[in-house]
Amino acid sequence: MQVFETINALQKELSQLNSKSIGLVPTMGALHRGHLSLMNQSLEDNDITVVSVFVNPTQFNDKNDLEKYPRTLDKDTQLVNSLGVDYVFAPTVEEMYPEPDTRVFNYSPQDEVMEGIYRPGHFNGMCQIVSKLFSIVQPTRAYFGEKDYQQLVIVKRMVEDLKLDIEVVGCPIVREKDGLALSSRNALLSKEERENALLISKTLFESLKLAANYSLKETLSFVKNTIQQNDNLELQYFEIVDANTLLPLEEWEDSSSIIGCITVFCGAVRLIDNIKYKG
Ligand code: AMP
Repeated sequence: MQVFETINALQKELSQLNSKSIGLVPTMGALHRGHLSLMNQSLEDNDITVVSVFVNPTQFNDKNDLEKYPRTLDKDTQLVNSLGVDYVFAPTVEEMYPEPDTRVFNYSPQDEVMEGIYRPGHFNGMCQIVSKLFSIVQPTRAYFGEKDYQQLVIVKRMVEDLKLDIEVVGCPIVREKDGLALSSRNALLSKEERENALLISKTLFESLKLAANYSLKETLSFVKNTIQQNDNLELQYFEIVDANTLLPLEEWEDSSSIIGCITVFCGAVRLIDNIKYKG
């Protein structure tokens, strides 16, 4: 496995591959089994797999969050190497942004709801970095986790909008045995916070059972109330939305594809998760 820090060096290497299929897995590092599942899928589907590790400053609306974000490049490269990935691309901020990126991406309504409200500018920054990575690597396929469901939907829209010949592959959420969705931010949780965080996935799974017999609004209230009753958790939002438009729904019958998306603060750590109800 080779690690590249510059765009030129990576592109020179990739240009010698001659029409082989390339899978790209964009990450911000602090890799865990969730990331590895994306890499394994890419290794299965493509001749070559490129994993990017880059903590992208333009998608952080909170400076503190950017500073606290775990960075473990040595451990990450070892892990990626053990899987059989071909290339790691780990550029510096100066390499990716020699000039400020002034491009604006608007993918309404999907980028205006949920994370779009609470993390202003996040999806614009995400589109800036992902579109740059797409230009640099020119992958055949790119892999994104359903854990960041809104991101996946917006990346698909961007690929359609920019008419890129890239297949965006969504991969299922990988969870701990007890249900907690794997996240790089879990490393920031204290033991007690980790226990409280478990209520998030537990409540989502219970709501999935309830959904068979209760209305959408009752299911929505159940999740909100259960999280709000725990004094150690702070619910930012829970919404039950159409899985394509990401707009809130009133009744289960209103769409054939329905997902519930949640964001909860566990202490200072912001955790997201989601559950598919239909489709
Ligand atoms: P991140 O490093 O957090 O930007 O994540 C990089 C990619 O890994 C994104 O496409 C995420 O959706 C995906 N990912 C993160 N956590 C998980 C998980 N628990 N299961 C599946 N994919 C994940």
